[in-house]
Amino acid sequence: MNWARAIILKSPSELEIMREAGRINALALQAVREAIRPGVTTAELDEIAYEVIRKHGGKPAFLGVPGAYPYPATLTVSVNDELVHGIPGKRRLQEGDIVSVDCGTIFEGFVGDSAFTVGVGEISPLAKRLIEVTYRALEIGIEQLRPGKRVGDVGAAIQSYVEGEGFFLTKEYTGHGVGRSMWEGPQVPNYGVPGRGIPLRAGMVIAIEPMVLVGTERTKVLADQWTVASADGSLTAHVEHTVAVTEDGPVVLTVP
Ligand code: MG
Ligand code: MG
Repeated sequence: MNWARAIILKSPSELEIMREAGRINALALQAVREAIRPGVTTAELDEIAYEVIRKHGGKPAFLGVPGAYPYPATLTVSVNDELVHGIPGKRRLQEGDIVSVDCGTIFEGFVGDSAFTVGVGEISPLAKRLIEVTYRALEIGIEQLRPGKRVGDVGAAIQSYVEGEGFFLTKEYTGHGVGRSMWEGPQVPNYGVPGRGIPLRAGMVIAIEPMVLVGTERTKVLADQWTVASADGSLTAHVEHTVAVTEDGPVVLTVP
């Protein structure tokens, strides 16, 4: 990925379009969340998201993303040790799994990008704590998305919290600016040094996405050449919102 990508500030009218992209994306994820239960296949979840996005006049943003081969689905569905980029298919979710679902929607040329992680039925105390810490890390990161803060403040806040809880963050995958492209500048890592990095400005839109691992910061790419899993097989979680930086503070765009 080319992180020399430009940082593109959005006007209020562009932010309104991005809010609609985020809303459609959130509706798709809400429908997927309601369908998650033991026995459902990840391909069935993908179909649900596709239908909701199309019904509202959006387009799936992930479909066709270049990689080893063009990304083949609307969602990424990553189960247990899978961290991100899991390809939907015949896998059936089981009681006790934790599943991370990431979705992107294009509406009138702008992208909304968001992810949730949820347990399937009863999950272990460790899995519960992992999910709680990952959501709290997202909140902590969002809180930093204000004019005058820097990218390093965001990463440092997330890192000190997550590592303080005894979990790990990948350094290989990061948050990012988002707009007409799903990946714009700045790159927003989930680690950093306070006071360092690019200054945040009103009009920036950031996809902030803690990716938390129980046992290691190392990851591996599976044989399908897309799915990223923890290197040690330990549980992982990933949550994300697309957030506008405004003079009045952070505004989450990927909500219903
Ligand atoms: Mg995403
Ligand atoms: Mg993203």
